[in-house]
Amino acid sequence: MYNPKSRDANEFIDDAEVRSSIEDAKRLAADPANIERILAKAAKCKGLNHREAAVLLNVDDPATLDRIYHLAKEIKEQIYGKRIVMFAPLYLSNYCVNNCKYCGFRCANGIARVKLTQEQVSEEVRALEKLGHKRLLLEFGEDDRNCPIDYVLDCIRTIYAEKFENGAIRRVNVDIAATTGENYRKLKEAGIGTYILFQETYHKENYENLHPTGPKSNYAYHTEAMDRAMEAGIDDVGLGVLFGLNTYRYDFTGLLMHAEHLEATFGVGPHTISVPRICPADDISTQDFPDAISDDIFCKIVAVIRIAVPYTGMIISTRESAATRRKVLNLGISQISGGSRTSVGGYAIPETPEENSAQFDISDTRTLDEVVNWLLDLGHIPSFCTACYRAGRTGDRFMSLVKSGQIANCCAPNALMTLKEYLEDYAAPDTRAKGIQLIKKELEHIPNPKIKEIAIRNLKEIEEGKRDFRF
Ligand code: SF4
Ligand code: SF4
Repeated sequence: MYNPKSRDANEFIDDAEVRSSIEDAKRLAADPANIERILAKAAKCKGLNHREAAVLLNVDDPATLDRIYHLAKEIKEQIYGKRIVMFAPLYLSNYCVNNCKYCGFRCANGIARVKLTQEQVSEEVRALEKLGHKRLLLEFGEDDRNCPIDYVLDCIRTIYAEKFENGAIRRVNVDIAATTGENYRKLKEAGIGTYILFQETYHKENYENLHPTGPKSNYAYHTEAMDRAMEAGIDDVGLGVLFGLNTYRYDFTGLLMHAEHLEATFGVGPHTISVPRICPADDISTQDFPDAISDDIFCKIVAVIRIAVPYTGMIISTRESAATRRKVLNLGISQISGGSRTSVGGYAIPETPEENSAQFDISDTRTLDEVVNWLLDLGHIPSFCTACYRAGRTGDRFMSLVKSGQIANCCAPNALMTLKEYLEDYAAPDTRAKGIQLIKKELEHIPNPKIKEIAIRNLKEIEEGKRDFRF
């Protein structure tokens, strides 16, 4: 029985509710009056529930789709402006006891197994800092023997020990397998930012087929992980499904129901939603996944999620090509990686083709500076801001700030100041010139004269060598 406040995964992602939402949505989408009503509600920037969002997902006529895309862009710009937050994934260990059929790290796959020593973690972090990164997403396979929680905590401590040295890593988000409340408490104490865990698919039967062995095969334990994490004090959690493992309508609906469950239970929804799609990896072909989605469907999913959960950050996968990234940046994406590696380590010493420890192939192989340059060309503001996390504005404190619109007084100047740091310390001359032009233009759009004055002063001080300003 569907109950968004239940702690039982089978009730907050109730299969019958998902199915009836999808069926009802098909019927309701046939009546233009329903679409108009939902679009009018969405335009108020208050979000949509999973049933309403499922109706919009059925829209196929080009004119209405165009309105959905415009609305998604408008909502994104109203809440996030032109800012795009930059981050880098860092893979620390690919030991894994699970056998997820779609993943290059699964235990049955005969790839090289590697785990970085703490010395190597430091080298990787220094290499990432030299590129200009401030925000990392740490990735680990699941293996309690080769990669226990103590190893994960050691890595986080090593990274933070490197920090605040004129441009070092300022925020560490973590993606580890579903674990106990006790381990989540330890992660919180270690100072992580967002805890990210992809559900992969919300369809229980398919989930169990895709995860035949290992701890991850327990659907309920995995699906209830965010509850344990939030109970343990982790305020910011990131959801995601791997579109293509199952029918996209089902996973889209399940994803929004999961977000509603967190909001109903903890008073705060997910901090981020990631939208990866199934993609090739070592010995994995997308042809084995008949539900893999087209670019058009992918764009529609991104736009409707943006409309449904306006205040949740949206992360585009490292897997996507530059062309796809460009499209969805205008539909609601707010975070993007640059210069990424999906092999273990790989930033200090890039791995050779023979070593091949990557989780999946990357389509966008450009460097961070090339991505920053490209974003500037497209009129976006690449932001290296980590201010909220460092000021303790997480969970409901972050959300109430965002929802009250106050974030506009922090984000824009913070984005410009952190971009300025990047331009001073790491950018190629052409990127620097473009960035300086953009900062000059965007300063004019800061509405509060006092904030504008402080931002101008701080920008000048950054030029003179000072760092780490924030509102
Ligand atoms: S998806 Fe995660 S848990 Fe599954 S095989 Fe890959 S690394 Fe292991
Ligand atoms: S001020 Fe907070 S919400 Fe705004 S960009 Fe910085 S970290 Fe993100």
